[in-house]
Amino acid sequence: MRFDLVTIFPEFFVGPLDHGIVRRAREAGIAQIAIQDLREFTKDKHRTVDDRPFGGGEGMVLKPEPLFEAVEKLLGEFLGNAKEPAVPLTNTAIVLMSAAGRLFTEETAKRYAKLQRLILICGRYEGVDERVAEHLATEEISVGDYVLSGGEMPAALILDAVTRLLPGALGNEASTQNESFSSFTEFPLSLGPRGSLPTHHSLLDYPHYTRPAEYRGWRVPDILVGGNHAEVAKWRRERALEKTRRNRPDLLGENG
Ligand code: SAH
Repeated sequence: MRFDLVTIFPEFFVGPLDHGIVRRAREAGIAQIAIQDLREFTKDKHRTVDDRPFGGGEGMVLKPEPLFEAVEKLLGEFLGNAKEPAVPLTNTAIVLMSAAGRLFTEETAKRYAKLQRLILICGRYEGVDERVAEHLATEEISVGDYVLSGGEMPAALILDAVTRLLPGALGNEASTQNESFSSFTEFPLSLGPRGSLPTHHSLLDYPHYTRPAEYRGWRVPDILVGGNHAEVAKWRRERALEKTRRNRPDLLGENG
């Protein structure tokens, strides 16, 4: 899969993409990651990427032209104007990082992992000219209900979540299956007031333990040490459900 990160701070990504799974996926050619310096797509001598907001107010806004030019150059395609709307893209998403976007979830990551190409646009300052969200980006995505100072961390976060879902990126293919947010399809054990749950909820991960079996007097649960696989599986399901209920009742359709 090919990723392009469009940013005014290309050097920001020196480091975050050079470790662990993402690094290995790059080295194995599973993920191709290109960092695009937005200023390379400006045409004036000052390489201007921002301007003051119409209507007044604080701060600066990223201009539309360099962003449209950047994405068009990357795709080798004209992406339309008010008279001639562009043909919808297939196998490519152009994602604008935005605190005002739809929330990024594991479902979003799974959808992106099936694409051939992801272009991630990083905003800065007060944000990005709205025509980018309306006519260039195929979606506007937020990584959480808080405001960051730029889209670079959100882009790195999305890239990480998507890369680890690419076939071959994790050494062990099975390891994404039982993680947090993987969907819970089994008929559950009767815990809690309603006794049972519909099948489409997702669960958080179960707790993990490693040696030493006793640390500062805190012992690892006996079942995990006992070696009975069925008991271990049952214990893990119960703990995952209990932890989800405690930390994220919204995932179970319950009130937070
Ligand atoms: N004025 C904007 C915030 C701008 S922050 C607002 O109130 O919504 C500058 C840039 O940081 C944004 O353009 C966006 O690209 C990025 N950003 C900030 N918070 C983000 C979030 N939660 N998710 C994704 N991108 C975010």
